Amino acid sequence: MSAIRTMCPHCLSPVELDPSEILLLSAPAAAATGSYAYNCRSCERVTVAPLSPAGFAVLTAVGVTVHSGEPAPPPAPPVHRFTTDDLIDFHRLLDTQDWFTQPLRTR
Ligand SMILES: [Zn+2]
Repeated sequence: MSAIRTMCPHCLSPVELDPSEILLLSAPAAAATGSYAYNCRSCERVTVAPLSPAGFAVLTAVGVTVHSGEPAPPPAPPVHRFTTDDLIDFHRLLDTQDWFTQPLRTR
């Protein structure tokens, strides 16, 4: 596994990173570029910077995992299936005089 050498822009210390220590995010529009982040061991600050397509290619070639910059889709709303109990409740509701004006119940 190759080490990636860079210089921390905050403390100007040389930084040597394993590919697993770099967070590489692909840009939403173009998958061949993006940005990266790493933590400097000297000053404990996080550096986040954009990447050129060439820099992106170098990091992926040495084994840095690419994470999608796309936000995760929202979870699907819970599905309520119409059950036999719902049918019985609906039947009882229809037997009332004011069923049309009663508010809907949701679970
Ligand atoms: Zn630093």
